[in-house]
Amino acid sequence: ERDRLRRLLRVPAATLDGQAIQLHANIELPGEAGQALEAGAEGVGLFRSEFLFMNRRELPGEDEQYEAYREAVLGMQGRPVTVRTIDVGADKELASEHGAVSPNPALGRRAIRYCLAAPAVFLTQLRAILRASAHGPVRLLIPMLAHGHEIEQALQLIDQARAQLAERRIAFDAQMPVGGMVEIPAAALTAGLFVRRLDFLSIGTNDLIQYTLAIDRADHEVAALYDPFHPAVLRLIAMTIRAGRKAGKPVAVCGEMAGDWGATRLLLGMGLTQFSMHQASLLRVKQEILRADASKLAPKVSRLLSSDEPARVAAMLAKLRADAP
Ligand code: PEP
Ligand code: MG
Repeated sequence: ERDRLRRLLRVPAATLDGQAIQLHANIELPGEAGQALEAGAEGVGLFRSEFLFMNRRELPGEDEQYEAYREAVLGMQGRPVTVRTIDVGADKELASEHGAVSPNPALGRRAIRYCLAAPAVFLTQLRAILRASAHGPVRLLIPMLAHGHEIEQALQLIDQARAQLAERRIAFDAQMPVGGMVEIPAAALTAGLFVRRLDFLSIGTNDLIQYTLAIDRADHEVAALYDPFHPAVLRLIAMTIRAGRKAGKPVAVCGEMAGDWGATRLLLGMGLTQFSMHQASLLRVKQEILRADASKLAPKVSRLLSSDEPARVAAMLAKLRADAP
């Protein structure tokens, strides 16, 4: 089976009806870019930059970060690298002097909330990412957005970082796309406001499921209730993809669901064309894509989305997975 999958390495990912699909990799450290490329990734869809910040006392400075982002960019040899700004807090804690522990960390000052409260840390990272964009295609991705004013503040700080580099006469890509993660139900429900302000969206299903179902993603006691296929979750994902298509803005899924081949046909039927996952899942998901007909899946998936009756949804899902193309 492994050998069968290896043969798909250089086969372009496309559905039977000719829809090209982009398969990207999630990485946590810059050195993983090489592995991603070897595994057939056409880009990095999620570089979880917070791993550069964790398990240390001093936060990394602009130069150290720049070198790390540039390493990932060079490692991908001209393919796009999506750098997510630090998503600290909740399950990814910084050394305590850099951020207070909140009573409910998953709902507290994490990710973009932390960055907007610590603009010097954010600006340092933004300059480092912008500098890496001089070496190849970089996309900037902002986690945990819920409000329009957060997007606007983040965009202002990005402008400020650009101006600071321009003043220092340091090169960067002035056109670097800026996207946002949709991982809070409020964001999915107002995806229109996101696509009007941002260049692309990426759906973080790990957190979207956590916040939709009120299930702590790290709590084993309630793990059985963490259901990626809950109709509420599926509708939020579908809504976000639809908003992106309507506005002509790219939408990806970069949570674990993108790498679950049991979800591939469902996501294709929702109109998803970009998947980002751990490199180990790329070929198995590609195999599903090569066997799928997106135009035939679309009406089946919209029927599935119209039901909120668990047994009916489960039956339709099983049929969707089992059906010939
Ligand atoms: C997600 O929430 O789905 C996601 C991709 O981000 P993380 O898992 O790093 O929170
Ligand atoms: Mg997340």
